[in-house]
Amino acid sequence: MTELYEVITPSASIGTLKGVGKKTEEKLNSIGIHTVNDVVFHLPNSYVDQNPTDVNSVKLEEVITVSGVVKTEPTVTYLRKGLNRMSFHMETNNVYIKVTFFNQAYLKKQIEVGDTINVHGKFNKPKQEMSGRSIIKPNGDTMDMRYALNKVMNNKTFGNIVKEVFRTHIFNQDLPEYLIKKYKLMPIKQTLYHLHFPDNMDELQNARRTMKFYELFMFQVKIIEKRKQERVPQKESIIKYDIDKLKRFIGTLPFELTKDQKTSVNDICRDLLSEFNMHRLLQGDVGSGKTIVAGISVYALKTALKQSAIMVPTEVLANQHYESLVESFNDELTIELLTGTTTPSEKRRIKEALKNGDIDLIIGTHALFEDDVVFKDLGLVIIDEQHRFGVNQREKLIKKAKSRNVLYMTATPIPRTLSITAFGDMDVSLIKTMPAGRLPIKTFWKKEKEIDEVLAFIKKEMDAGRNIYVVAPLIEESEVLDLMTTEEVYHMFRETFGEDKVELVHGRMKTEEKAKAMARFESLETPILVSTTVIEVGINVKNATVMTIFNAERFGLSTLHQLRGRVGRNDLQSYCILISEGKTEQAQMRMNIMTETTDGFVLSERDLEMRGPGDFFGVRQSGLPEFKVADLVHDYRILEVARSEAIKLFKEQ
Ligand code: ADP
Ligand code: MG
Repeated sequence: MTELYEVITPSASIGTLKGVGKKTEEKLNSIGIHTVNDVVFHLPNSYVDQNPTDVNSVKLEEVITVSGVVKTEPTVTYLRKGLNRMSFHMETNNVYIKVTFFNQAYLKKQIEVGDTINVHGKFNKPKQEMSGRSIIKPNGDTMDMRYALNKVMNNKTFGNIVKEVFRTHIFNQDLPEYLIKKYKLMPIKQTLYHLHFPDNMDELQNARRTMKFYELFMFQVKIIEKRKQERVPQKESIIKYDIDKLKRFIGTLPFELTKDQKTSVNDICRDLLSEFNMHRLLQGDVGSGKTIVAGISVYALKTALKQSAIMVPTEVLANQHYESLVESFNDELTIELLTGTTTPSEKRRIKEALKNGDIDLIIGTHALFEDDVVFKDLGLVIIDEQHRFGVNQREKLIKKAKSRNVLYMTATPIPRTLSITAFGDMDVSLIKTMPAGRLPIKTFWKKEKEIDEVLAFIKKEMDAGRNIYVVAPLIEESEVLDLMTTEEVYHMFRETFGEDKVELVHGRMKTEEKAKAMARFESLETPILVSTTVIEVGINVKNATVMTIFNAERFGLSTLHQLRGRVGRNDLQSYCILISEGKTEQAQMRMNIMTETTDGFVLSERDLEMRGPGDFFGVRQSGLPEFKVADLVHDYRILEVARSEAIKLFKEQ
C-alpha cells in the first residue's frame, strides 16, 4: 500500500513539470513542495466565492460578492500619510449601496459610471455599505482560491502548476469503486480537482466530503495492515511466568487490587502467554494504580527469568517510579535507576549488571536508548506517558528485546475518537475506578479578590499537617498587567506563611536542587510548594490535600486535571482551588467544567471539543496523523463508517 498522500506513482519531482524551472523548483521546495503529489495535496486554505449574492439575503454583515451598476464617479480622499479612501455608489438588486475601498485608489480606472461590475467585500446591511476588498472581473473563475505560499509565488501561478499536474498525470491510487458508489463519492482525481478549482460552494462541499472519507479510510487501512504485519506468531513472545508465585506475590501486597486492576493484570498475563506480541495500552486516571499493575507484570517476568524496562519521559518521574516501586517491591525485585544524572561509575556498574542479568527492572529516561545499554534477556518494555516520546525513540528501546512485548501506560484519558485513530491498533485495559476509600476532590473557582479567603483556607490545611501545592504559570511582569506573576505569588506566600514554610521549584533549577526541594516538601519541613512549571505528571505525595492554581485559565483542561490529580491520593478530603478572573468565555467554560466533574474522560472529551486534536497532547510527536481536510472531532461519523469499511475489506480478503 502506498502512502495516503501519494495518488500518483511514481511521484515525479516537480522539476519534471513543464514551466517549472530551477528557480521555481527551489521556491516550491522552500515551502515543502517537492513532488507532483505534494502539488496536488497542497490545497487552498480558503476560497472566495465570487458568485454574486443578493444583498437582500444578508442579515447583518457578511463577506460576499455583489454584482451591480456603477452610479457615481469614484472619489478619492487622501487621509494621513500614505492612506487613501475611494468611494462610489452602485445599484444592485434595486438597492442603492455605498462602496468604499481603502488604499486601493488605483482601482479607480477600472470603475466607470454605467459599467456592471462585481465587487467582493464585507457588506454591512444596516448601513447599506460595502467595504470592498477586490473587484472581480465577470466571466473569470467564479471561485477564487487562496493558498499558503509564504509569498514565494502568487495564487494564480501556483494554480497553473496544479493544472499542469492534472493535465499530464495519471492518478493511480483511489478509493475502491464500490465505496465510491455506495457513499456517492467521487474518484480521487476529480475530488482533488474540485478542491483546487471548485465552480461553486456545493461542488467544494462534495469534494471535501469525499476527501474526508478518503483520508480516514486510507488511514484505517494502513493501521490494519501494519497490525497484520506485526501480528506474526513467534515463540519468543511467549513468557511462561509462574502463576503460583505470582498469586502468592499479589497476596503479599498491603491492599487488595481493585476490580479493574485485577482485570488489567489478567489481560497482561494473557498477553504474556500468547505467541503474539503484547501491544497493550493501560489507561487509567492519575492515582488509579497503574504503577502497581506494572510492578506485578515485572514480577511475572522475573518468575520467567526475564528482565523488564520502564521508560519515562522525565527524570522526576523516573525517580518517583523508582521510589514507589522500590517501596512496594524491594524484597522481591532488583530495581535500578538509569537517567541523565546517574554518575559515570554508577552507570558502568548498572550496565554491567544489566548485561549479566542481575537486574530485574531498570527504570530510566532517554538514557535507556543508548547503544551500550545491553540486556541479558529483556522480555517486557513498559512505556509511561508514551505520547511524550517519538515513535523512533520508543523503537530504540523496544528493539533491545527479543520479543516485542510492549505495555504502554497513560494517565491522559484519551477520548474514544482519538483512541480509534491514534491507538486503533492497540489492545486497551482500562482502570476506571480509584482505590477504595478515596474521596472525590472538591474543586472551587475563585477570583483574585477572594485571595484572603483562599489563604485562610490553606492556613487551616497547613496547620492540620498537610502538604500544599501552588502552581503559578510563568508570567513576565510586562506581559499582562492584571495577572499575578510567579514572583508575586511566591512573595505573597512567604509573607503570609513565613519564609521557611514555602519552597520554590522552577524549570531552570538543577535536578539535584529540585530533588532536595521536593524532599523538604515531602518531609513537611516546608509544607508549601510553589512551582512555576507543571509539576511532573507522576508526583506522588500522599499527604498533599490542596492544589492551588493561579492564572488557571492559562492551562488546558487536561493539564488542569493532571494537576488536580496530584492531590486526593489517600483517604483525606482534598481540594483544588482554581484562581482565575475568567475574562474570556473559554476561561469560564473551563473553570465551570472543572468544578462540575472529576471524571477524566468527560473532561478529555470536552477538552478535545474545545481545543481540537492537534493541540490535545500538546506534542506533535504523538503519532496522530494530521489530515488535510478531515477533522477528528467533527468528522467522527465519517470516521466510524470509514473504519468499519476498512475492517470489512480485510475480513473479506
Ligand atoms: P498511577 O500510577 O495510576 O498514578 P499509582 O500506581 O502510583 O497510580 O497508585 C497511586 C497510589 O495508590 C499509590 O500510592 C499506590 O500505592 C496506591 N494504590 C494502588 N493500588 C491500590 C489499591 N488497590 N488499594 C489501595 N491503594 C492502592
Ligand atoms: Mg504512576
